[in-house]
Amino acid sequence: MTSQTGPSQRFSIFPRITASLLLPLLLLSTMTAADIPEVDAELEKRLDQYISLFSATAEERAEVLEAIIGDMGSDTPVATRVRALGYRMLDSATAEDNERAVAMQDELLTLARRSGQTDTLAEAKAFQIELLWRMDDSKEAMVHVPRLETLLPDVRSPRIRYYAHTLTARLLRSHSQYEEALSHFLAAYDAVRETDDERTQVRRQFLNYQIAQLQAELRNFDQALQMAERGIREMQELDYQMYLPEFFLLKGYIFGQMEDHEASIGVHEEAIQWAERLDRPGIVLTSLNNIGSAQIQMQDYSAATQTLERALDMALELENESTRPLLEFNLAYLAIMQGAGSESIADMEAARSELEAFYGQADMADLLGYVADAYRAAGYLDEAIDTLIEQRDMNAELFQSERDKSLNELQIRYETREQATQIELLEQRNELQERVIENSRLQQRITILFVAVVVLSLILLWQAYRAARRANLRLTVANRKLEYQSVHDTLTGLLNRRSFQKEMQKRGRSGIERRAQAHPDALLLLDVDYFKRINDRHGHAGGDVVLKELARRLKSVTRESDMVIRWGGEEILLFLRNMSPDALPDHVQKMLNVIAEEPIIYDDRRIQVTATGGFIQLPFAGVPEDDIDWEKALHIADMALYIGKTHGRNRAIGILGLNCPYETIRDQLSNDLAAAVEQSQVDHMTITGPSQSHKAQTPMDQTDHDSSPRR
Ligand code: GH3
Ligand code: MG
Ligand code: MG
Repeated sequence: MTSQTGPSQRFSIFPRITASLLLPLLLLSTMTAADIPEVDAELEKRLDQYISLFSATAEERAEVLEAIIGDMGSDTPVATRVRALGYRMLDSATAEDNERAVAMQDELLTLARRSGQTDTLAEAKAFQIELLWRMDDSKEAMVHVPRLETLLPDVRSPRIRYYAHTLTARLLRSHSQYEEALSHFLAAYDAVRETDDERTQVRRQFLNYQIAQLQAELRNFDQALQMAERGIREMQELDYQMYLPEFFLLKGYIFGQMEDHEASIGVHEEAIQWAERLDRPGIVLTSLNNIGSAQIQMQDYSAATQTLERALDMALELENESTRPLLEFNLAYLAIMQGAGSESIADMEAARSELEAFYGQADMADLLGYVADAYRAAGYLDEAIDTLIEQRDMNAELFQSERDKSLNELQIRYETREQATQIELLEQRNELQERVIENSRLQQRITILFVAVVVLSLILLWQAYRAARRANLRLTVANRKLEYQSVHDTLTGLLNRRSFQKEMQKRGRSGIERRAQAHPDALLLLDVDYFKRINDRHGHAGGDVVLKELARRLKSVTRESDMVIRWGGEEILLFLRNMSPDALPDHVQKMLNVIAEEPIIYDDRRIQVTATGGFIQLPFAGVPEDDIDWEKALHIADMALYIGKTHGRNRAIGILGLNCPYETIRDQLSNDLAAAVEQSQVDHMTITGPSQSHKAQTPMDQTDHDSSPRR
């Protein structure tokens, strides 16, 4: 240490006990492990929340805690009870109610001892140590450390283990027992490793910060700087700011130690920004002190005075009892360096003795360097020499080579574990990312598959629908065809005999309707003349053509309401609805004409065709259809047709009425119509077809004398 070095910034990084006290508690709040004593999970959770109340005032915190304690009953497990009462005790000490705190301490220890639980006793013991330390009796606190150390190997709860080890480590460090401190930090680190939750990273950072600080105290600045920078980087990556002020402060301090004062000031300003943002006045204060120190190093005394006085005002306002003497020391040093006399020496010594209560041997050894500088600057050379000797002895005691070696080993062990954890964490993060990617890929695939399935299903459904519709259509067409075929004749397309029979069945049922019509219906049965000959001359196909053409012609002259039926081979029946008796002869005439007027062309040959018919009205001659139904009437028409055949063909014979009571000729009507006609018992009429004489090649022309009956 040279006379050029100003007051140590290292004091500045040493956190005030009360300011950092909550950190280890908070960090382990959610830790759990198997085999820990029974606790009240609900209350424990609330206690976790309580120790996370950073920005709350002392009153608010007390209120929360008292509510928790108020909710505890006789059945609350002792472990939970001790934890809650321990916090209350520490709060009492913070509130400077030491007497009350000590009384509580006894109660707590008795409770813990009676429980017989190692975990509970260890926690109570740790509370006791922390209480003593808070009450500035760190030497008494140290006395209890060995007892706690004997309990710790059997403690199961990682929360308690972490808390106890961290507390012990910090206490030991403040007593310059670096080796022991480091091994406790290691044990705390192991407790952290037993937990795996979202706070693991943060707990790790807290420990890293503690170790980095320890390294700085041991003057392993390269290593300390590396850890601080890594801490800042990881905190920012985690988006977790809690220790950023500490890490920046440490980094600034390290730069100062490495005599890069400009960098030191810059980093400290960053620390102040973070500390102000996170409401950590203690760190603002320390950073200001350190900036003042750097300014002294740069011999910018007026700036340094300004900075330090501003900091001192703040310390007084905050009642910060540990930083205040430090600032006073630095201000006294500054005054001495600027030529002030013995008065400032006294101030410096007063501050120095106050500082002894807060700082460990290493810090005090550092401080002695500045004290010696000040004595020399003030011209007190003897005192300067004495101070330097004192410092040398202290350092010798502090840095034995033996201890450095074991410290090194501990550091290596720590680093190894830290690296392993980092690798694990990185792997976990990678795995997580891969899983996320895999998941989104899977999701994508599922979506595509789903869409494909839906589209495919829709296509299939559409096709099935179309196929069904086509099948239905075909079925409908087939059904219609069948329906059509069942009532039509395939050759001529005329209605068939069956369809007429069906119509007549309906007629039986709709008799009333029919009687309402103006006129009776009429039946005209036609038989093609000499059809056999047509077949013979023109072949069966020619005969077919003739039948088809006749069908077409007859249909062309009938009404929509009439029925044209193929009754037999070349017999066609016409059912003429609602036919006025006056119009009937003309109608029949029209039929005969349309058959015979124009020859039918087949194979470039003209075929002359005539037909003979018999016609009758239905009902016939007012006789009810119960007596003369359609079948009987048709039979009479058939007999009339026969008469026509025997009387020269190409004509139609109509049976129009009765000239005597029906009963009297009932039998004759159905057996021998010709006789009845001859005896004029029936009214009849003959309608002749168009004259055939001028027409060549008519079957009749060539068979003039053939008058054989057709059956
Ligand atoms: P008539 O003047 O006395 O009635 O003499 P016809 O030759 O017509 O004698 P008949 O009624 O006994 O003969 C009917 C013939 O019609 C018998 C049969 O071979 C023929 N025939 C019946 N159905 C068909 C058919 O669908 N197509 C053809 N080409 N000929 C048929
Ligand atoms: Mg015939
Ligand atoms: Mg015939």
